[in-house]
Order: sequence, then structure tokens, then C-alpha cells
Amino acid sequence: AKQDGRNSFRFFTSLMQAEARRGLQLENSLRRALERDQLSLVYQPQVSLVSGQVIGAEALLRWRHPELGEVSPAEFIPVAESTGLIVPIGEWVMRTAVQQLKAWMAQGMAPLVMSVNLSSVQFRHNDLPGQISRILDEVALPAELLELELTEGVAMRDPQGAIAVMNDLHRRGIRLSIDDFGTGYSSLSYLKKFRVYKLKVDQSFVRDLGDDPEDRAIVSAIISMAHSLGLQTIAEGVETLEQMQFLRSQGCKEVQGYLFSRPLRAEEFPAFVAAGTRV
Ligand code: C2E
Ligand code: CA
Ligand code: CA
Ligand code: CA
Repeated sequence: AKQDGRNSFRFFTSLMQAEARRGLQLENSLRRALERDQLSLVYQPQVSLVSGQVIGAEALLRWRHPELGEVSPAEFIPVAESTGLIVPIGEWVMRTAVQQLKAWMAQGMAPLVMSVNLSSVQFRHNDLPGQISRILDEVALPAELLELELTEGVAMRDPQGAIAVMNDLHRRGIRLSIDDFGTGYSSLSYLKKFRVYKLKVDQSFVRDLGDDPEDRAIVSAIISMAHSLGLQTIAEGVETLEQMQFLRSQGCKEVQGYLFSRPLRAEEFPAFVAAGTRV
């Protein structure tokens, strides 16, 4: 048994070493990913359960590494955050997404809201609101067409600072939604102080709506609380008709998920919007 213990210890150490090596490799190549044109965005349609129309797009980052292939954002975003690379990458994401929306509209696509994910590291960075306003000016896009998705964690370290930034963004007409809502540690009283426009029901609650009464209770409570506070709701990770029907029965008006569409390349998006959905 002693021998076994030592072997599994070695096994774990070598696993940890392999992970650390990959982390370093990712860090080094991520530094050059921007200039080498390896990053791109895909756009997942957000659908109104009222009209069946596509009313928004969530921009999602993709990284194709020359040797490793596609690296998942779940793996490289934390590396980008811990190295600070998320600041220039996040600025690139913002500018690219906003320019893309402008380009679609120039091609005749009806205006919709572009949602951009924001890391808490970017949120703490100086002059985020000013940087976003400059990008919107540069592209000549109205601020109401941009929405920022933040997780509950942004306010953890410094709630007062976060509230000040949120107020500033609000004054500039930029909407905020809370991503992965229900999975973090936000105090409900914060919701009252935060200039938030929308709650995004996390996909972990949506997944088992079909057969988990507790998830049904949680989702239903989130939606009704949001509405009592005058907030909009959107549910993510919707994959089945049954999930969609439950969400609709609870008054959720917007959904996003594989049931409607996977994230699309920019060229694919306008045709999907034109076709509409049958919800
Ligand atoms: P997220 O913001 O919660 O994004 C939702 C994730 O769920 C996306 O994964 C999306 O492709 C996936 N998804 C969409 N519909 C479905 C569905 O019906 N079922 C399931 N199972 N999944 C679905 P993705 O693109 O791999 O992104 C993972 C995470 O990486 C995002 O989670 C977000 O936290 C982060 N991320 C992605 N792009 C950016 C970015 O530009 N900036 C920052 N800061 N984070 C990003
Ligand atoms: Ca998101
Ligand atoms: Ca989410
Ligand atoms: Ca997530």
C-alpha cells in the first residue's frame, strides 16, 4: 500500500508538471496570438420567445493554435487573466464585435444588441468606460446596441469601486447583464445597488429543467425575482423544446442555446437572422 501511495504521488506530480508545462506553453503563445491573427470571434444568436426574432448576438472568443489546434476559452481565458493579456485581448474583442455589428448593419441587417463578455480583470482596469466609449465613437455605433456580460465576481473585491464603474457605464448608455447568474456569491442586496439591466440564468440550472424539480424552482425564483426588480432575463444553454417551454411558462422572454443555433461565424449570421426561428 505504501508503494501504491508513492506511485500515485509520482503520477500526480507528473500530471501537475504536464499541466504547468501546458500552462507555460499557452502563456507564451498567447502573447503572440493577437499579432499572428490566431484569435477570432463567433456569434451566438439570442432569440426572443415573444417574436421568434433574433434580437442579439453574444460574441465568443476562439483561438486556433498552430500546433495545439482549437484551445477552449475555458482553458485560455484564465491564462489571459493571470498574465494581464486579457486587457489587450479584451479590447480587441470589443472593437472587433462592435465593428462586426456595424458591418452587418451596413449590409442591411436589422440592428440588434451585441453582447460582449468582460473579465473582472478588465473591469478593474483603469478607464474601462472611457475605452469603450472611444471604441463606440470610432465605429459610430449607438451605446444602446452594446451589452456587457459580467459575472457576479466583479463586485467581490471592491463593491464600491464596481458600483462607480457600473454607474459610469450606465450614464454612457451601455447596458450590463449578470452572466452565469446564481452560480456566484453575490448578495441579493447588491442587485438593488447595481446598475444592471438583465440577469442571465446560468446553463447549469437550465440543463436539468426537464427532470429536476429543484432546478425548476431555482429558475422560476430567479425569473420572478428579476421581474419584480424590473430586470430582464435571458436563459442560456437551452437545448430542448421542453426547457424552452418551461422558461416561457415562467415569463422568460429571451433564450440562447443549441436548440436555436450554435455560435456562428460572422458570414453565417445574417442569413440566420433573416430566416428567423419558429419558437
Ligand atoms: P459563457 O459566457 O457562459 O458562454 C456560454 C458558453 O456556452 C459558450 O462556450 C457557448 O459556446 C456555450 N453554449 C452555447 N449554447 C450552448 C448550449 O446549448 N449548450 C451548451 N452545453 N453550451 C452552450 P465557449 O464559447 O466555449 O465559452 C466559454 C466561456 O469562455 C464563456 O462562458 C466565457 O466565460 C468565456 N469567454 C468566451 N469568450 C470570451 C471573451 O471574449 N472574453 C471573456 N472575458 N471571456 C470569454
Ligand atoms: Ca457570457
Ligand atoms: Ca454564461
Ligand atoms: Ca460560464
